[in-house]
Amino acid sequence: MTSIQPPTKTLFRQICERCGSKYGKDEERCPHCKGVSDSESERYRARSVREKETNAHLGVLFLALAGALALLMSVIFW
Ligand SMILES: [Zn+2]
Repeated sequence: MTSIQPPTKTLFRQICERCGSKYGKDEERCPHCKGVSDSESERYRARSVREKETNAHLGVLFLALAGALALLMSVIFW
């Protein structure tokens, strides 16, 4: 007899409302901001948002670099 089981990874994950971090569902409170004050958790959240933005900018920069390189190559080997 076979039974379909949902992936446990997503089942045991929840996102903290204070700092935006992921943690296990079996944990009562988020381990990332459990011992810190509201202002500290807010700072943590702001930092993780900024990191995401930086990654996005890096992606755009990489695309621009790749485009410039492709252009350069086509000029050289033309
Ligand atoms: Zn948290």
